[in-house]
Amino acid sequence: MGSYLELNNITQLSYKILSEIPLCDRCLGRVFSILSTSLTNEERGKSIKITLAMEIDSLIRERRVKDLSEVLPVLKNMGTIGETVLRKYGVNEPVNYACWLCKGRLSYYESELYQGVKKLVTEKSTRIALGVRLSRELSASENTLISKYKLTYYESIKNEIKRETGKRLKQEGFIIDLNTPELFIIYDVEANVTYLEWSKERVFGTYSRLVRGIPLETWEEKEDMRTLTKAKFYVPFSEPKDVRIFCEYPIFLEKLPENAIEGFQIRVIKKIPRRNRILLSSTPKSRKYRVTLYTKRQISGIKITDNVYDVFIEARDYKDLLLKIKNALSDAEIISIDAISLDQKTQEMIKRNE
Ligand SMILES: [Zn+2]
Repeated sequence: MGSYLELNNITQLSYKILSEIPLCDRCLGRVFSILSTSLTNEERGKSIKITLAMEIDSLIRERRVKDLSEVLPVLKNMGTIGETVLRKYGVNEPVNYACWLCKGRLSYYESELYQGVKKLVTEKSTRIALGVRLSRELSASENTLISKYKLTYYESIKNEIKRETGKRLKQEGFIIDLNTPELFIIYDVEANVTYLEWSKERVFGTYSRLVRGIPLETWEEKEDMRTLTKAKFYVPFSEPKDVRIFCEYPIFLEKLPENAIEGFQIRVIKKIPRRNRILLSSTPKSRKYRVTLYTKRQISGIKITDNVYDVFIEARDYKDLLLKIKNALSDAEIISIDAISLDQKTQEMIKRNE
């Protein structure tokens, strides 16, 4: 068929690509990403497919397509939109929905990076930059697509993931700063993990809190750990101020603490050079707490005195712990809570950084 040569550049190139491989709306839109800025790639790709489907339909109606088999591959590779045209002409062959390039996984990668930032960036005032490390396979497919079809308006997968995720995070108040970031949050497609890198050297260590009532940082109290250490720090996860921490929780400090802080034990493990991958990149799956309770019921636990017990409960975090207590011991009154250990995996991660 020579008729597609009469189409304009965009539909013509799209026709050529889609007659050979299936692409999802986003990946097709990304081929022409640089040409228009007000649309998402998904909207752009979908619009191109709709235009292309109408063009093909008109070619069929005007009998400029001799046989439907000429346009069958391209329609099949267009997914749902092509399917509509095929059904119209009574063709019920299976359609390709899976994208040759991303296999329909782009949204998943974005959500991993997004969740990673939400987990790793505890303070919204931290200036962050996002990063994506593609798998070898994805990277090779992308390069093949660019060179085979001589794409000049193509936006990289990395860029789209970073841009779309950044947009979403900005709406929630996160600061995306590509020029002077403090922290890099990177999603590794092949390993399926999100990790962090500091833009400057940091001190890695652990802390325990043996007293109650002193938060790590707050606007309300006069004293918190930040004012006491006189150093900016970052913790991947923590506990409310009234929970003592008897085990070691990880901490990253801007510099070595100037003063010892009463009630806090800080153990410096090592200096981490800038842009070094930090393995400690997720919150623990479980933590063990000791909860001292007042209850008139007979419960299993260590009896301290009449109606007062110590119970040991494993929970994902503090919130989950409260929920568990409410469900199992609804009449009990909580006297105090201490965190006593982290799950094996998190402990190993801390050790691996030693
Ligand atoms: Zn795709």
